[in-house]
Amino acid sequence: MHPSGPTTVTDLGVRRRFLAGVVLLLFACLPIFACERAAPNSSRGPSAARASGTGGTGNTGGTGGPLKIVATTAHMGELVRHAAGALMDAPHASAGPRLELRVLMGEGVDPHGYKLTRSDAVLLDNADLILVSGLRLEGKLAESLAQLRASGKNVLQVGDELPRDRVIIVSDAGATEEGAPKVGTPGEDAAGAAQHLAAAGELEADPHFWMDPELFALAAVRVGGWLADADSKNADAYDSNAAAYAQEIKNLDAYARGVLASVPEQRRVLVTSHDAFGYLSRRFGITVRSVQGLSTESEAGVRDVQDLVELIASRGVPAVFVETSVSPRTIEAVVAGVRAKGKAVIVGGALFSDALGAPGTYEGTYLGMMDHNVTTIAIALGGQAPPRGMAGKLTQKPERVR
Ligand SMILES: [Zn+2]
Repeated sequence: MHPSGPTTVTDLGVRRRFLAGVVLLLFACLPIFACERAAPNSSRGPSAARASGTGGTGNTGGTGGPLKIVATTAHMGELVRHAAGALMDAPHASAGPRLELRVLMGEGVDPHGYKLTRSDAVLLDNADLILVSGLRLEGKLAESLAQLRASGKNVLQVGDELPRDRVIIVSDAGATEEGAPKVGTPGEDAAGAAQHLAAAGELEADPHFWMDPELFALAAVRVGGWLADADSKNADAYDSNAAAYAQEIKNLDAYARGVLASVPEQRRVLVTSHDAFGYLSRRFGITVRSVQGLSTESEAGVRDVQDLVELIASRGVPAVFVETSVSPRTIEAVVAGVRAKGKAVIVGGALFSDALGAPGTYEGTYLGMMDHNVTTIAIALGGQAPPRGMAGKLTQKPERVR
């Protein structure tokens, strides 16, 4: 089960989403944030972020050995690697490496159901800094992370520190009518939304914030500030590296906007296994529908599949997508259903939702993963994009609809 409780899929497999900004007051009362300290506003930049460092071990870089960092997901590892830049590669031969990074979840690993191994526990125990994606993505690690934090470890949960009005809040109840508002569409006024959510009684923060490049750029700056705090001698380097990476992410953001906008509007529907693309939807105005909910631990029902089949058939959506870290079973059922109606649909490719590609490949980086996703989506749905992506580096050519 999902850590926040039963994530029952709604009757339609389509959930009504609300921006937290609409319901800021309610959001502040969410139990998932109850035990967190007040979140610093990471949009204020590195110096503001640094002033609010998560209580921890102070300047652990000055003790002689390398600063040992453990990141839960590969996305988080990317933030550390880029903020560290050359500091990661031990340029100071006499001093040894300044930073040592270990990532717990590798290629194709689903974070929602991930459990710590014994060796993970040792790594975490020995870590100076622990970087977590947060917003309950790593649901099964919550207890261990809370214990580590309580023991004085410097744990940064990035998602939980994003500006609150940028975090997507999802309600599982309601939304039984066709054409539920797509993510980010303010469908109700604040009072209406608040009432609706209160009645629903079940709220969740969508943890997949990296799908909005602007939020991931904010996270990059926040992590730069966090490292600068821990290794203050190199503070300027972390800050400037993080700022440079944030700029690269913004370039990717512009590319993504262009290629996704080239998809004919009627076909701008992204159908995937689980609900990992809500932030992409909000950022780029593409409707997202999934068979499962926010967590891969939620169950999909026959009706969820049938409703997606109807949507795809009626709108002439040419392609649906599987995910590298999720079983393709439910999407295969959707494809079979559409074809049984005599309509053509293909699996347009495997998207990277919660895991990056293989280490050492372009798709094994955040930029490469996002480039792959948006290029694959655009081409499969009938839009225009360079076949090898924004940088000509994609290893697989996306399938074009025939
Ligand atoms: Zn997910």
